[in-house]
Amino acid sequence: MSKQLVPFMRRIVQIASIAVLALLPIFALTTHYKAARAIGDLPDGWRSTAIRGVDAAVGESNSRRQMVETTQGTFWSARILGYSLSDPLAGAEAIVSSRSFYVPLLWSLVVPIILSVLLGRVFCGWICPMNTLLELVDRCRRWLGLLEIRERDVRFSKGTKYLVLAVSLGFVAVSSVPFLAMIYPPAVISRELHLFVFGTGIGVGVYLILAICVFELFVSRRWWCRVICPGGGLYSLLGRFRLVRVQRNEQNCVQCGDCVTTCQFDLRPMLVAQTGMECTNCASCIQACDSDALSFAFVLPGITKQRGKGHGQKDLPAVALKVVLIALVFTVLLPSTALGHHILGLPHYSYKENYPQAPTLEYPATTGPYDVLMTSYPGRPVPGEAATIAFYIKDRNTNRPYDQPVAVRVLQTATFGDNTIVHPSTTHQAFDNQHRFTINFPEEAEFVVELTMQVEGQQEVIPFLIVVGNPTATVSVVVAIVLGLACFLVVVRAIKIKQQKRSADITILEPNEQPLITGSHVATHP
Ligand code: SF4
Ligand code: SF4
Repeated sequence: MSKQLVPFMRRIVQIASIAVLALLPIFALTTHYKAARAIGDLPDGWRSTAIRGVDAAVGESNSRRQMVETTQGTFWSARILGYSLSDPLAGAEAIVSSRSFYVPLLWSLVVPIILSVLLGRVFCGWICPMNTLLELVDRCRRWLGLLEIRERDVRFSKGTKYLVLAVSLGFVAVSSVPFLAMIYPPAVISRELHLFVFGTGIGVGVYLILAICVFELFVSRRWWCRVICPGGGLYSLLGRFRLVRVQRNEQNCVQCGDCVTTCQFDLRPMLVAQTGMECTNCASCIQACDSDALSFAFVLPGITKQRGKGHGQKDLPAVALKVVLIALVFTVLLPSTALGHHILGLPHYSYKENYPQAPTLEYPATTGPYDVLMTSYPGRPVPGEAATIAFYIKDRNTNRPYDQPVAVRVLQTATFGDNTIVHPSTTHQAFDNQHRFTINFPEEAEFVVELTMQVEGQQEVIPFLIVVGNPTATVSVVVAIVLGLACFLVVVRAIKIKQQKRSADITILEPNEQPLITGSHVATHP
């Protein structure tokens, strides 16, 4: 295999990852506008060009539409072509913060964890957008000399990132605050991109990314990934016994040190038989080695003959190699059944995570110890077309989702008389942390969705108002008329009283008599 091939493939994967990163929010926005039937109302600009471009590419094709609708999320947790994937760090954070194992979330972790166990920090070297950005920053460091700025490279302990990981997870466990999602660069970049594409401005995450870049440029080369990143720490731990490593051929090595200067992660492939858990398998050192002393090898700890000193890993027999390759293909194709719960197509594995895409309609309520959130999709349903109503109910003391069945009925509000039942009471079981049902509203009007649930042994009914279409606001018109009429009557009555009073005064006062003024009172002689 040409030693240029792997670095070339890595560049392709990096470019594809950036493309996916950019497409995720555009697909989300397209789905959003499509559901709201508002693509035609978009003002001209790059957003409308992108959305219309995706919409035109989808056309009438169901499979393409499905592809767009099932490719949503962020690099923290996403659904790519229907496969749910979560970053192992997202999984760790969700587990420690909720202190529970949520099966759909665990399923979404299977592929990333298996890939990390087999290939090590391959996410860092091949996929992470922060790594791609910092590789560019690293190139910029070479230009510092041209600007007569001294290149500094302060060294910090690589072990710090494991401490950061442990302390952060401890903090999350105690506070239940999703702290890691706020500082983990792939999640931050994804989220900021969503904010930018959705036109809701950019957040503080941009400053964090900029600060990391500036620090790397002027102070310490690849400081964040080597020393701080909790995700990098977790990937290193997962890849502790990985099977694919950079291996040195002692006979060919001339100890020139080119691999050492090339490695951005401050590793020394020329000094070890195989690289360790910090290596990202980026292949830069293999590419830099003119003596062909470095290559990728499949190694398994503790089997067959020893080759070189270092970690004591051994060559994998050919059969085992095939098994590994088949396992790799299988893991990539493994259909994840993770469903999570989704708002606007985005997986939300924790209850009501604060994604940039707020649902179009979101009504919170509380009853007893429970927080209840109703969402409707689309936000303003259209008569005759299915609308999905979902309730997310959790105990605010324990953070546990409510898993009892609930009853839901829908009534059309009446200006006069009783409301009409348009959807009789039906029972819904909890699924994916939510109680969901679909309804076709019969006409443009105001409806009340009544949720009935058991709260501390009592039956509680919570009404939520939903406006369907653009109904004529009968009540408002009637109220406006009544109020207008009342005002008119009050004014007329006031004028009449004043006129009566004036004519009475004229009648009582004699032409040559003066009123007596006593204090503020006006009196007349009888
Ligand atoms: S260490 Fe963190 S920021 Fe760096 S490449 Fe890995 S995941 Fe990305
Ligand atoms: S040792 Fe080689 S493959 Fe590993 S991170 Fe360094 S340059 Fe990349």
